[in-house]
Amino acid sequence: MPRRGTRKRRLGRRLRRSGRWLLPLVAGVVVGVAGLGLAQRVARGRLPVLPGPPDPLRTPPRAYAWTEPPPPAFPIPPYARFLKGVSIVLDPGHVGQRDPGGTWKRGPTGLREAEVNLRVARLLREFLEAAGARVVLTRDRDENLNRPDDEDLRQRAAVANEQHADLLLSIHHNADDNPQPNYTTLFYHAAADASAAGLCAARYLLTGLDDALRLDKQIECAVLSDRLLHKNGLAVLREAQVPAVLSEASFHSNPEEEARLRDPVYNRREAYGLFLGLARWAQAGLPRIALAQSGAARAGQDVVVNLDDGLSSRGGWGADQAQISAAAVVVRLDGKPAHYTFDAGKRQVHVSLPKTLHESRHELFVDFENIFGQHVLHPALGVEVGKP
Ligand SMILES: [Zn+2]
Repeated sequence: MPRRGTRKRRLGRRLRRSGRWLLPLVAGVVVGVAGLGLAQRVARGRLPVLPGPPDPLRTPPRAYAWTEPPPPAFPIPPYARFLKGVSIVLDPGHVGQRDPGGTWKRGPTGLREAEVNLRVARLLREFLEAAGARVVLTRDRDENLNRPDDEDLRQRAAVANEQHADLLLSIHHNADDNPQPNYTTLFYHAAADASAAGLCAARYLLTGLDDALRLDKQIECAVLSDRLLHKNGLAVLREAQVPAVLSEASFHSNPEEEARLRDPVYNRREAYGLFLGLARWAQAGLPRIALAQSGAARAGQDVVVNLDDGLSSRGGWGADQAQISAAAVVVRLDGKPAHYTFDAGKRQVHVSLPKTLHESRHELFVDFENIFGQHVLHPALGVEVGKP
C-alpha cells in the first residue's frame, strides 16, 4: 500500500505535467476572447484604428497614381546572369554637331541628341559588362568623322555584322516641331516576319523603359516598323544582318524632357531600363541553330540542323521537355519553303535537299519560337552542296 506522501508527490507531478499544455491553452483562450472583444469594439467604432501597413486589397485609388520615378537605385537582378557571353553592339546615334552653334538635333535649350545618346550608351555598357555581356560601341567619341551620313550608318551596321552580334541596339532620342510630344518608341526593320528576333528584343526593351522612365504617355503601339519613317526603313537597321532595334526613349524636343536628359542620373535610369529589358530578353532564351554535320552536303539527301532553344542547354528542371513550338518552325532553302521533318525530342530538323540541287553554296533558313516566343538570332546558314 503506497504511503500518503508518495501519493501527494505523484499528484504534484501529474499537475506539473498537465500544466505544460494547460497553461498556454488557458492563456490562449483568454487572449482570444479579449481580442474578439477588442475587434468588436473597433468594429463598433468605439476605439480609434491605429495606422498600420497598407492593406494591398484595400489600396485607395490615389496610391495607384503614376508618380515620379522612385529614388535612384540600380541593382543588377539575378536574372541578368543570362546575359553572360551575349554579344551586343550599342550604336549611340549621330555624332558631334553638323552645324556648330546651330539647331541640328538639339533640344530647345541646345542639348545635343548625339551627346545624350553617347552618355546612355556608355552607362548601358557599364551595366551589361557587369552582367558579363560582350559589348562593342559603334562610336565612343563625340566628334565629326567627316563621313557622309549613309556611309556612316552603313559603317555602324557593319560593326554589328562583323561581330556577328546577337543584337544591334541603336540608341536615339526623338524630336518633333511640336514641343508637347514625349513618349517611347522602338523601331524594327521592315516587316514583322523579316525582323522576328529583333522584334522580340524590342518588346522587352519597351517594358524596361516603361518601368525606368515612367513617362506620362505611352502611345497605342510603341513597337513600330521603320517603314513608318522612310519607304525603305532606317539605314542602320536595313544594313544589319543581325537582330537590330532602334530605341527612341523620349523626346529631347520636349522642354521638360530635355531638362531631365541633362541629368546624368536620368541618363542612368534610361540605361538601366534598357539593361533590364535586355536582361529579361536574355532570360527568355536566345535560340540558335547549327548544322549537325561538317563538310559538304549531297543533293537528294538530308541536312540535319540542331536547334538550340536557348533554355534546355541551361539544364535544370524541365530541361528535357520540348521547349520549341512545333507550329512555329519555318524552313526555307534559297528563300523557298523546304521539305523537312522536325524531331522535337532530339531538337533537330532534317531538311531534304532536292535531287536537282546544283553544286554550290545554298542558303538554309531555319527559324522557330521557343516557349517564350523568342526567335532564332541567326537563322541563315550556308550549306555547301558537293558532288553526289
Ligand atoms: Zn536620332
